[in-house]
Amino acid sequence: MGKKVYVEAANTLPVYDVCDILVVGGGAAGHSAAIAAARAGAKDIILMERYGYMGGDVTGGYVIMVPDLSWYEKSFVRGLQEEWFTRLKNIPGSVMAPTLDEIGSEDPALLHRWAPFIDCVSRGTYCAKGPNGEEIRRDTKRLVRAVFFEPNQLKIEMDKMLFEHRDAIRVLYHSWGTKPIMEGNEVKGVIFESKEGRKAILAKTVIDATGDGDLYCQTGAPFASLADGQCRSSTTAVVWRIGGIDWELFAEWRRLHPDQDQAMRARMIQIAGFRIGAIPSNANDICWMNNWHPNRDCTKIKDLTETEINTRITIREVLNYMKEACPLAFRNAYLYDIAPQLGTRCSRRLKGEYIITANDFAFASQFEDTIAWHSTICQINDCGPVEIPYRAILPQKIENLLAPGRHLSSDDVAIDWLNLIPQCVGTGQAAGVAAAVAAMDGTNVRNVDIKKVQDILIDQDVPLPRNPRVDPSYMECVEEHMYGLYTDLAKKARAEADGLKTFRQW
Ligand SMILES: Cc1cc2nc3c(=O)[nH]c(=O)nc-3n(C[C@H](O)[C@H](O)[C@H](O)COP(=O)(O)OP(=O)(O)OC[C@H]3O[C@@H](n4cnc5c(N)ncnc54)[C@H](O)[C@@H]3O)c2cc1C
Repeated sequence: MGKKVYVEAANTLPVYDVCDILVVGGGAAGHSAAIAAARAGAKDIILMERYGYMGGDVTGGYVIMVPDLSWYEKSFVRGLQEEWFTRLKNIPGSVMAPTLDEIGSEDPALLHRWAPFIDCVSRGTYCAKGPNGEEIRRDTKRLVRAVFFEPNQLKIEMDKMLFEHRDAIRVLYHSWGTKPIMEGNEVKGVIFESKEGRKAILAKTVIDATGDGDLYCQTGAPFASLADGQCRSSTTAVVWRIGGIDWELFAEWRRLHPDQDQAMRARMIQIAGFRIGAIPSNANDICWMNNWHPNRDCTKIKDLTETEINTRITIREVLNYMKEACPLAFRNAYLYDIAPQLGTRCSRRLKGEYIITANDFAFASQFEDTIAWHSTICQINDCGPVEIPYRAILPQKIENLLAPGRHLSSDDVAIDWLNLIPQCVGTGQAAGVAAAVAAMDGTNVRNVDIKKVQDILIDQDVPLPRNPRVDPSYMECVEEHMYGLYTDLAKKARAEADGLKTFRQW
């Protein structure tokens, strides 16, 4: 578009504020970074967000379920991610999920209870070492912790969390970070736009949690652009919700009428012109309509605009068709609401000091600088725990900058398993702790004492591998269930990793 240029005159900007840690973007990653930094002892934090609420894709994009928080009987994804739900469970009607006591259960009654809810029941096989070290494999299902939640309640809770740390965190809503302030290869702050005009904030560490690398892309740090066109990560969405339904009846109808279900799914896609599907929520009378507009880049105005319009103009027709195709569940259905913000899965990806690949999942790579050890949606390792190293949020060449969240450093396959909410929370939490340790020790985030960071993360309820301070039953669990696929399974996994691009669609 447009070859003409306008030369903007050089300008002096007022410095709005100065801080130790500036977090730009208040999504799952940015909010977690600010909270974790405060809890690690940092006292001088600014959290800047372009909209008027926290949560990004989660609360504004209505992405209202998190999958695979557990593996077998262990709850791997903990820390701030589990805290969201511990807090929300006290608010009636806010969360629905198998409890921590139930995970790993093979009880048929429980499996039946949770079968209508995507990802509450495992898809993989059971795998364990026998008494002589032999592999035991059998087809079985077990209960997994996936949580469905109410986005507006989470919005409130995220503000409450910030309010609890108001002595340490200054929140700036309606402020859009536009440009890093650089001195050579060092980030010194950020220029932002707001109703007050263009101003600067100076900071010792900047955490780019914009999800789209809005800041790191201007620093000279290497990064990749859009995810592979065949991955779900290169799709955009505008989620909308339907009220007045009966989800459990719908799930039962699907189970009893698989052909009609297939036909219904296909027709909905035909009507919309892009892939669209219903997903349960925390309430039986509400579902959310996930959608995938292919080959869209959420950093392009045209793609953003077309995603908004193309979704909204098809909503009524899709909904009318659903009422007609399955009156049992949708007879009284109505448009409940439309997410206030467009859903973005991936755009820019950092090429950081380490790039996570599919092989790291298949072979359970082990790192000295692991900051999160998460069960994930990845099926090449049966959703088993993968290690995320600190270097995956640390840019090459550039100082004083971290990049947690969905724009972290990974290849175009692994990003599909890493940009989920738990991994954004987990990497955000670690970024916050690292920035806090750097500020307190008078060093920068590249040279931070990673052992100290890991110790604080463990204190913040984040289990990490091979650490004597972590409950040994975590390591026992992964070893018992063939963690790392050390066996012949490894060969199969490698073949799959080489041959497959994507395994599950979200
Ligand atoms: C439709 C859809 C369905 C999905 N399904 C699931 C699912 O079922 N389960 C799951 O776990 N994950 C799912 N995901 C992925 C997951 O929701 C996201 O990857 C994750 O929430 C991203 O978190 P984040 O903090 O990295 O980025 P974001 O949520 O994008 O947060 C970035 C924040 O920064 C703000 N911001 C951006 N730029 C600027 C700027 N320049 N200045 C100031 N603020 C800025 C934004 O407003 C936002 O609040 C889905 C994603 C989509 C879109």
